[in-house]
Amino acid sequence: MTKELLNRVRKKAIKATTAYRVIAVGCVGGKIVVCACSHRFTRKGGGIHAEEKVMIRRKDVEKIFLFRFSKTGNMLQIEPCNRCSKHATRLGIKIIAGGQ
Ligand SMILES: [Zn+2]
Repeated sequence: MTKELLNRVRKKAIKATTAYRVIAVGCVGGKIVVCACSHRFTRKGGGIHAEEKVMIRRKDVEKIFLFRFSKTGNMLQIEPCNRCSKHATRLGIKIIAGGQ
């Protein structure tokens, strides 16, 4: 994970107005092409996940980095949900979760 990537997600996380900020970053050839945020826990089955947004916007992404931040900006653990993982696998996209 690069510093640039971390700076991008932190900036995006600050802009989110929700309690839990989920940020997904899509990369092609090591370059960031999409950055999306989302609120994961609004309604059950409702809303679009950040990683979903990335896959909708850019079908050519190779990797998606997934992050979750608390209100205070601490990085929290996250796992992509089943639905998104399956979708990503079908598209040949690798989801890297957590910030490792
Ligand atoms: Zn999902």
